[in-house]
Amino acid sequence: ATVVVAIDGPSGSGKSSVSRGVAARLGLRYLDTGAMYRAMTWWMLRHGVDVTDAGQIAAACGKPNLESGTDPDQPKITVDGEDVSAPIRTREVTNAVSAVSAVPEVRARLVAMQREIIGSGGIVVEGRDIGTVVAPEAPVKIFLTASTEARAWRRNAELAPDQATSVAVTRAEIVRRDRLDSSRATSPLAMADDAYELDTTDLTLEQVIDRVVALVHE
Ligand code: C5P
Repeated sequence: ATVVVAIDGPSGSGKSSVSRGVAARLGLRYLDTGAMYRAMTWWMLRHGVDVTDAGQIAAACGKPNLESGTDPDQPKITVDGEDVSAPIRTREVTNAVSAVSAVPEVRARLVAMQREIIGSGGIVVEGRDIGTVVAPEAPVKIFLTASTEARAWRRNAELAPDQATSVAVTRAEIVRRDRLDSSRATSPLAMADDAYELDTTDLTLEQVIDRVVALVHE
């Protein structure tokens, strides 16, 4: 059977580094579904869509042409041919993305794209609703967690120099985003009943990758 590894969890739990590492180790493709919601949000901001207006978001979300790369060594996402891999990581996009991703029309479009990519072979997929909604049939499901402190420190350290802020601000931003992501009506951040929960607070990246790879081989 095709290997599909679903990796969900809140912001800063280590999803991206772990997912890329696992995919590289196992020779699988990699899909960052958060990057797709970010790219959609980047396009909305660029095109003057009011991201507090769900109606405007729903009406516009069919327009951008998104293309997701699946190479774990070189994650790349383009919108209408433009590489947006860096600009989707600004705090402006990060702080608007939960509102955009809560709109059902956005989720319907992106989930359909995600399922199509997943359907073409072995892959590690990271997000918030992969094990519950996007790929509930995935044979391996991991839910990564970590303390709020650890997540804030990690996220803060990842910010590009021109996005730098304090750990306290980053902490407040991730707490807010997790609250919005967990409380939306359509496929909120949630752990699947059959997911394996892994607390990464006191583990190194290599240790987490080792555990996930072991679970895949079980
Ligand atoms: O993982 P990342 O922090 O890049 O995700 C950005 C945002 O995209 C999340 O805060 C959430 O609002 C949204 N998202 C989602 N469903 C997913 C992946 C991400 O709603 N499967």
